Amino acid sequence: MWKGSCKRLIPDTKLVDSIKLISLKNALDYDNVIKFDVVLSKTFSYSKKTSCNIKDFIPQIRDIISELSKLSLDEKKNLYDDLYNHGNHYLGNRESGSLIRTVSGENKNVESGTNNTSNFELPPLDGAIYGKVVTRFPPEPNGYPHIGHAKAVIIDNEYSKKYGGSLILRFDDTNPSKEKMEYYEAISEGLDWLNIKPTVTKNTSDDMEFLYDYARKLVQKNRAYVCVCPPDVIKTNRSNGISCSCTTNTVDYNLEKLENMIQGKYQQNECILRYRGDMKNLNTAMRDPTLYRIVKDSHPLLLNKYSLWPTYDFAAPVEDSMDGVTHAFRTKEYELRNELYYAILSDLELNKPQLIEFSRLEFQGIPVSKRKITPLIETGIIKRWDDPRLPTLMGLKRRGIMPEAIRKFVLSLSITLSETKPSMEILESFNRKILDPTSIRLFFVKDPIEVHIDKLETDSV
Ligand SMILES: [Zn+2]
Repeated sequence: MWKGSCKRLIPDTKLVDSIKLISLKNALDYDNVIKFDVVLSKTFSYSKKTSCNIKDFIPQIRDIISELSKLSLDEKKNLYDDLYNHGNHYLGNRESGSLIRTVSGENKNVESGTNNTSNFELPPLDGAIYGKVVTRFPPEPNGYPHIGHAKAVIIDNEYSKKYGGSLILRFDDTNPSKEKMEYYEAISEGLDWLNIKPTVTKNTSDDMEFLYDYARKLVQKNRAYVCVCPPDVIKTNRSNGISCSCTTNTVDYNLEKLENMIQGKYQQNECILRYRGDMKNLNTAMRDPTLYRIVKDSHPLLLNKYSLWPTYDFAAPVEDSMDGVTHAFRTKEYELRNELYYAILSDLELNKPQLIEFSRLEFQGIPVSKRKITPLIETGIIKRWDDPRLPTLMGLKRRGIMPEAIRKFVLSLSITLSETKPSMEILESFNRKILDPTSIRLFFVKDPIEVHIDKLETDSV
């Protein structure tokens, strides 16, 4: 166990172990980085249980963080495990609600403090009321589902089951140039195979008229405007934090332009609807992002009925809110867009779901995303999307992976933000545990030779 010099300085050793656990948890959740502010604020809340005045020990807390920061990620995981189970600390379930994978690849349920590879549980959800939790899985039907989709939908499904709530499967189909019917079907088949039955299945495109109404409302409130600048100018202005002259147009002008856009009177790239954010905001997601753009391609379900399509930035918050979603999970790369998500809902006076991030799932040495797999297919290195070497659901199925193994594997990773890249062997080890008890073992001898043994003494056997 790690021992820092500061342990002698803070009189309460239980508090020292608590600070170490808080720091390690912070590193495991956030890219192996320990944030002093986070550790300090959490330590304050625990110090109420002690007679220590934390302000007197800030230098020692910094020392603890500094020492722990020198450890590798695996060393941090082991130390967290060790301290949690054997240390003397104040932490209850709240800080320990994640499942930590040890270096050996075995999984340990830290919450219960016991090794248990069959009953993984996700940490409790803040603000969850039994019977009222609504989660959603919003895949874009622009490719075949893979293990990353499985992780997302399993988390959504497990939470809705845990709280007796519902799960919405919502095809986020607002980019006709990339979406195809075969992908809607492949995603539905993938969920069937995973034995996940959504309470409701719908498409974002079902709600186009509602979404147009919310766009009108934003323009009426002067929170959105039509921009006619060329794409390269918009890009340059956004990176330089400069507003264009379109921002000065009146609400009436913008409303009229928006109606013309809805009616399909403009060509692709001729104009877009932008959110009125803040072009100087350090968070570039807030620099007047696009809410609607013109796409003239035929939609797989609606054909050419619409040509003005909402972006994910606009459709996701509005749809989540309209669908009554209480807890919306999405991968960590959307973290910077949370501010925009809530700003749009505030402007539209809509209910705000709770956003929860989790790390994207990648395998060591195996491409997971469509972006990485597509070139392998296009160049003929891999012929089909169900190739058993690929982590697509069809590929995993052909590889002999059981859906229950995927579920256990995903739950073992929990919903931490740390970027772990587990190896395929871990998924396979879950699979073996499921298959082992029911598998028939057969042996064969290649090219057998018949052997006759005469006069063998019975006691020589
Ligand atoms: Zn403009």
